[in-house]
Amino acid sequence: MSDGMRFETRAIHAGQEPDPTTGAAVVPIHQTSTFVQEAVARHKGYEYSRTDNPTRRAVETCLAALEGAPHAISFASGMAAIATLALTLKPGDRVILPDDVYGGTYRLFSQVTEGLGIGLETVDMTDLEQVTAVTAEGADLVFAETPTNPLLKILDLRALAEAAHVADALLAVDNTFATPFIQRPLELAADVVVYSGTKYLGGHSDLVVGSLATANEELAGRLRWLQNSVGAVPGPFDAWLLLRGLKTLAVRMKSHCSGAMMIARWLDEQDSVEIVHYPGLPGWPGHELATVQMAASGEPLYGGMVSFSTSSEERALAICERTRLFFLAESLGGVESLIEHPARMTHASVAGSPLAVPASLVRLSVGIEHPDDLIADLERAFA
Ligand SMILES: *Cc1c(COP(=O)(O)O)cnc(C)c1O
Repeated sequence: MSDGMRFETRAIHAGQEPDPTTGAAVVPIHQTSTFVQEAVARHKGYEYSRTDNPTRRAVETCLAALEGAPHAISFASGMAAIATLALTLKPGDRVILPDDVYGGTYRLFSQVTEGLGIGLETVDMTDLEQVTAVTAEGADLVFAETPTNPLLKILDLRALAEAAHVADALLAVDNTFATPFIQRPLELAADVVVYSGTKYLGGHSDLVVGSLATANEELAGRLRWLQNSVGAVPGPFDAWLLLRGLKTLAVRMKSHCSGAMMIARWLDEQDSVEIVHYPGLPGWPGHELATVQMAASGEPLYGGMVSFSTSSEERALAICERTRLFFLAESLGGVESLIEHPARMTHASVAGSPLAVPASLVRLSVGIEHPDDLIADLERAFA
């Protein structure tokens, strides 16, 4: 039904035919663990909800359509998606991560899978020579993330795919910050795309969920098998909430991005702000690359995340504690704006590691409130 349709239309219609038995316009929440069979092994395509569930299948169909991928597989969280991807590896394999990858991803590969004999190397993925030097020593999975968190560095996905493929490795891209509305890694030759749907895909801070998407048939088959074997699946209600969130992804992303751009420009004018990290600012090192790579919607959009460095840790903490509209909280990607201090909050677990972030840094997840109100809130906090 959604073939050839544009992103906004697919978000509302892919996998979401009216219910054939009742005509319900919205996909029902099939809150059931099991499905009655007409005769032994004769059923309507569903047997048990860990294996498959109609609400979950609807959201997976929609996710695949938004990614332009034949396969999307959903999980109970972003980390469950990444952990299941990690289980495609075997002892002796080697994973390459960016040196500022999401902390949970680093923890998984440094403290869980390393113990299973899967090697790990971190590298500054903005430096392709370094990447090639590391992959030349052997690589099975190159796992990229762009824009990065919380420093908003931009990685060249096409170049990373080439480096990975030369080394006979797969390229996975955590596309949580950009979403498929803005950036489609599979079109840039990546092999698998990873999401924490908890963030922009769900979009309302009321859900923890994850997904993987791929066009690689063999990998898809293995991941689907692992989804059922490991069982880290989202429940029907969470699948439904994600489906509901996806319907407004395009309009929300446009609003997040325009608000973030206004706030980044305002921050750039403040004498007390030392560096504004935002790929939409012309002076930003990854700006040109982002302009090309983050234009899947038809125009460059630079995301809703902004971070900035202040003069000191004390000042960063004071700003975080003084905003009223920006809630002081971890996570990101919801309609409400959030502020946080990465060094003491989201990135506290990586203090002292290669992933440590400056203590003077503040991170914003710009919501879809009116940007003037958000700027007034920051003005008050800065005063
Ligand atoms: C939040 C996040 C994850 C982990 O997802 P959960 O849904 O919290 O398990 C992975 N990658 C990025 C970039 C994230 O922001």
